[in-house]
Amino acid sequence: MDIARPKEVATLPVRALSLAERVWRASKLVFGVSGSLLVIGNIALLLLPVPHLHLCLFPLAFILGPLLGYFAWRDRVVFGRGEVPCPKCHEPVAVPDGTHGYPARFNCPCGIRLELKPAA
Ligand SMILES: [Zn+2]
Repeated sequence: MDIARPKEVATLPVRALSLAERVWRASKLVFGVSGSLLVIGNIALLLLPVPHLHLCLFPLAFILGPLLGYFAWRDRVVFGRGEVPCPKCHEPVAVPDGTHGYPARFNCPCGIRLELKPAA
């Protein structure tokens, strides 16, 4: 059996993200995550005199925010609503809202993980 061949081929609506949309999605994550962690770190520093919390949250804010922003930047497509047949149980499985990027992965209720890749 050829493992590289897909077991099922399905057609789904996919919207390609423009450069501005990708930058906006990445910026929201970078500033949202980093900003939230900085605010939490400052409030925690004022309320709890625990220097360890302060020392851990600030580097985490400056690493986690850009890292998540990079992952959002990598996503070039957003999936629309659709269903794909499960290769194991053959039941239609709805693609979850907000699924983005290739390979898209989500679970079937029967317990296996579905992976969507673009057709070559
Ligand atoms: Zn299934």
